[in-house]
Amino acid sequence: LDLDLFSKESKAVVDFIADYYRDIERFPVRSQVKPGYLRNLIPDTPPLFPSPITTILHDIKTDIFPGLTHWQSPNFYAYYQANASSAGFAGEMLCSGLNVVGFSWIASPAATELETIVMDWMANMLKLPPTFLSGGLGGGVIHGSTCEAVVCTLAAARDNALSQSNGEGITKLTVYASDQTHFTFQKAAKLVGIPARNFRVISTSAETGYALTAESVRVAMDADVVAGMVPLYLCGTVGTTAVGAVDPLREIGEVAREFGVWFHVDAACAGSAAICPEFRRYFDGLETADSFSMNPHKWLLANMDCCCLWVTCKTKLIDSLSTKPEILRNTATEVGNVIDYKDWQIALSRRFRAMKLWVVIRRFGHANLMEHIRSDVDMQSISRYLSRKMRGSTWLCHDDLRLFALN
Ligand code: PLP
Repeated sequence: LDLDLFSKESKAVVDFIADYYRDIERFPVRSQVKPGYLRNLIPDTPPLFPSPITTILHDIKTDIFPGLTHWQSPNFYAYYQANASSAGFAGEMLCSGLNVVGFSWIASPAATELETIVMDWMANMLKLPPTFLSGGLGGGVIHGSTCEAVVCTLAAARDNALSQSNGEGITKLTVYASDQTHFTFQKAAKLVGIPARNFRVISTSAETGYALTAESVRVAMDADVVAGMVPLYLCGTVGTTAVGAVDPLREIGEVAREFGVWFHVDAACAGSAAICPEFRRYFDGLETADSFSMNPHKWLLANMDCCCLWVTCKTKLIDSLSTKPEILRNTATEVGNVIDYKDWQIALSRRFRAMKLWVVIRRFGHANLMEHIRSDVDMQSISRYLSRKMRGSTWLCHDDLRLFALN
């Protein structure tokens, strides 16, 4: 590494990004380009000779910026929030700057140990039940997305069920979601081999705030048992994507327990709110869950990507995902007193995301992170009030429903 060049070019990139944020409100939030626009601007073949960073940054401005949707613009209200912060940038720069690949403890001990500590910190801020903490049978891991977290827990549930089955195969396993559950769950179920016909979508309605009810879950599972099927996995949600609905965790979790079903709680977006004591009640009943996931890259100022997953029984996850190739053999793993996070995820390689989350938590502190959540909720209260005033109170907008879920 040419240190002078590295320092000079990195500073130029940081200044470039700072200028982008200074000017961000000048851009149309939604890109105005037509499909295929970039083909006309960028050569078909890669360059044989190098370009200076200044030329590349110039081309980003002229060619790439017009095709960006400006997710970090204060005027962006699409999809869901994907908050960034200066601490998130600093953490992300350190993560890629150190560029370690901590797939096993020995591959970078600090990366593994920091992840375990930060996940316990997060569990502490979110007031998760102690069963999710690393000291006992449970523990946490950082993935890139909820989809990965759900795939891994589904695989663990599947393998655990198959190992205990009396000859029933995967074709008998059924999984349960509501009509509001994120579509990522359907993809995850497909990826772990659950037949599409065994994916149960339970209807919700306005009367229950678009949430599941214990009764609806029980009826669906009962019907499957009667039909000779084996209920496997229930996905509950706190803060569904479309309307911010909150499933009653304790009630549906108890039904899942009755049927011996793995209960996952997806709080990708709203999960960050649990760091505020006044919003923690929406997560009551988490003690009944086998796993819980939330994305700090959505609402906790950690830049993309960062999805926290906790499980109450890490051995089920590891039994399903562990691999022991000869080339990765090492004493620490063999002695068995270390975590090898490669066995908690799909890929072997992994980013040092714990660094980012650690920097964000340290730089803001729990107190400022709570203020961030509270000020967003307050803003939504104001927007709800204004939209009701402007449009009469008959119709609820997306923000109203999200607020309705959190208040
Ligand atoms: N679950 C919920 C409730 C979400 O709102 C979203 C994204 O909007 C997801 C899951 C998907 O998350 P990811 O992109 O991390 O897989």
